[in-house]
Amino acid sequence: MFLKGKTALVTGSTSGIGQCVATALAAEGANVMLNGFGDAAEIENVRRGIEDAHKVRVGYNGADLTKPDQIEGLMRGCAEELGGVDILVNNAGMQHVAPVDEFPVAKWDLIIALNLTAAFHTTRLALPGMKKKGWGRIVTTASAHSLVASPNKSAYVAAKHGIAGFTKSVALETATSGVTVNCISPGYVWTSLVENQIPDTMKARGLTREQVMNDVLLAAQPTKQFVTVEQVAALALFLCRDEASAITGANLTMDGGWTAQ
Ligand code: NAD
Repeated sequence: MFLKGKTALVTGSTSGIGQCVATALAAEGANVMLNGFGDAAEIENVRRGIEDAHKVRVGYNGADLTKPDQIEGLMRGCAEELGGVDILVNNAGMQHVAPVDEFPVAKWDLIIALNLTAAFHTTRLALPGMKKKGWGRIVTTASAHSLVASPNKSAYVAAKHGIAGFTKSVALETATSGVTVNCISPGYVWTSLVENQIPDTMKARGLTREQVMNDVLLAAQPTKQFVTVEQVAALALFLCRDEASAITGANLTMDGGWTAQ
């Protein structure tokens, strides 16, 4: 229970990677603020489930992170309900796939706002409290797309490259303050979002399940294995340990060899 007494904000934690990271932090004793969209009853089930299983305080704030004023409200909520943010996990993200000359302008703005600018706001608002305590952890879910590109994902790739640079800059600014700032860059992660694409792709392309997994989804991933949400959460948790205090400004890949090629 090495995080007892600490408070974590995990953005985009109503599903996928974020939910698993929030659960892993709670399992080590952290009080947690959940954030993200979804069905209110389902979110309440998740919130209560984590609270009951791990005997910690778990809050929920549905702030839309593309809106800076709502991010300010979220950070105020964390301070009022849980006493501040010791561990900030910038995880909320979205994708849109289209060639750049057809890319909807509104989608570009949303992806940059959520996948890049939101982390600027959460970080600038969380840092003063961390510096005051002399301890803090900022962990951002970047992506293999923070290091390499794919066609038709210009906004996502721009935002994820941006967040990797932002991470380095803030790490240098905070290097002597007890705060570490890192990102994790997963390859293809097995989430329900990915799983749900398989039947449609099988039908649309006349492929078997195995062909869709290996030749479409995992084409870039040499291990031909999906990363799991538990693996990403385990690395995020490790970054919160005192043993990880020398890791700052890093972009840690977890991509089955994708970016080694
Ligand atoms: P997901 O869709 O399951 O989770 C996204 C979360 O963000 C959800 O909780 C959603 O409600 C929330 N969200 C969306 N828009 C929001 C907004 N405007 N304000 C607040 N919250 C919002 O996806 P995931 O796969 O768990 O992705 C989490 C992060 O991991 C993202 O940053 C994504 O880019 C990154 N990532 C995912 C993969 C993958 O293969 N799944 C790979 C690399 C990186």
